[in-house]
Amino acid sequence: MQRLERWMPAAVRMVIDTLAKNGARGVLVGGGVRDAFLGRAAPDWDVATDAPPDRVASFFRRVARTGEQHGTIMVLTGDVPVEVTTFRGEGPYLDGRRPSHVVFLTELEADLARRDLTINAMAYDVIERRIVDPFEGIADLRTARVRCVGRAAERFGEDGLRPLRAARFAATLGFDVDAETTEAMRSALATFERVAWERKRVEMEKLLGQGVRLATPVALLESSGMLGIIAPELVGVAADCDKLLGLPRDPWLRFAGWAHLRRVDAGTSGAIAARWRASKQDGRRVEQAVAALTHLGTASPPRGADLRRWVANHGFPAASDAAEVARVLASPLYQRFPAALRRLAAARPPLAVADLAINGTDLGGLGFAGPAIGATLKKLLGVVLENPGHNDRSTLLAVAKTLSTAPDPT
Ligand code: ATP
Ligand code: MG
Repeated sequence: MQRLERWMPAAVRMVIDTLAKNGARGVLVGGGVRDAFLGRAAPDWDVATDAPPDRVASFFRRVARTGEQHGTIMVLTGDVPVEVTTFRGEGPYLDGRRPSHVVFLTELEADLARRDLTINAMAYDVIERRIVDPFEGIADLRTARVRCVGRAAERFGEDGLRPLRAARFAATLGFDVDAETTEAMRSALATFERVAWERKRVEMEKLLGQGVRLATPVALLESSGMLGIIAPELVGVAADCDKLLGLPRDPWLRFAGWAHLRRVDAGTSGAIAARWRASKQDGRRVEQAVAALTHLGTASPPRGADLRRWVANHGFPAASDAAEVARVLASPLYQRFPAALRRLAAARPPLAVADLAINGTDLGGLGFAGPAIGATLKKLLGVVLENPGHNDRSTLLAVAKTLSTAPDPT
């Protein structure tokens, strides 16, 4: 409890106090409670309340109302944004047979009951300084277990994203998935398949990027059949996936590593990213990183001219992604490859036609014309990549004079 209050930002307290001042009740719910128990700050903070959204909005100076149709008002008044969501929950709890203060409690319980996992279905009542934990989420946090609220098969049937979320939390928290929940994953495939790619992608990004354990959760994705649906191309290397933990917490870098482990080619890697509706930028990044990886020798890293040619072909961003992946997956000789690449970048050697000490106009003066100009510049770049010391005007003009001014027949 003390730990909870230590992690809770002032904004959460302010929101809940403001709700109270206006006669409404607010409790901290969801990931914020879970993460505080685990001794970490949550990425976002959720408050559940008995006040309807339009009232919530009227209590605060600055709000965003984009989630209002789902009952959520984003309060922007404090130091961090806080999402305030009106209790949601159905059925028997809300039959109105109980006195009002108990109705509040049962409303809260109903709201918690619709949540996916026990560790995500706890609330902290800041005013009463009390944890509300009807599904024994604290016990599951203590035993490091991912378990559905209620019958797993039923809960997965309601929302096919939940089995993937279970695997995601197994990865990000390093927890095991309880037996009934694991069993239900296998039978939830039909529902899982219908879930929008964007939602699946967000979970995969968190699983990969924030995972502290990957072999076990990826094995779970394989054995449940979920990986066969989202990326059959990546099936088969689960056991090696913990190696990806040596990479920075960057989902698409780890994805590129996964693709490389499975020897998936660049085009296929990009196609998986596109299927997952990743941004064009992330898709291109993965594709280029994997392409750069496939042009690295497995035994020892390229040096000298080979290194410059490799960087010239793939560009520094893709090269440094590939170097990171090679550091954790290739031979020990790659251990210092990222550092070697950084030194090269700092030295700013000429790596492109634009870096050459002469240009097309200079070649025109020597009698080159049309396509022969571009072709000759490329040859000169080859000379300079071999030996950056040759990148001065007089040397390159001299070399150009030895080359035919006729367009290359090849
Ligand atoms: P993160 O650290 O990634 O933000 P989180 O647990 O806060 O993790 P969110 O996606 O932000 O996850 O969702 C907030 C809360 O909403 C969850 O803790 C959970 O209680 C509930 N929730 C989210 N998605 C679902 C779902 N698909 N089914 C049921 N409850 C869900
Ligand atoms: Mg959250």
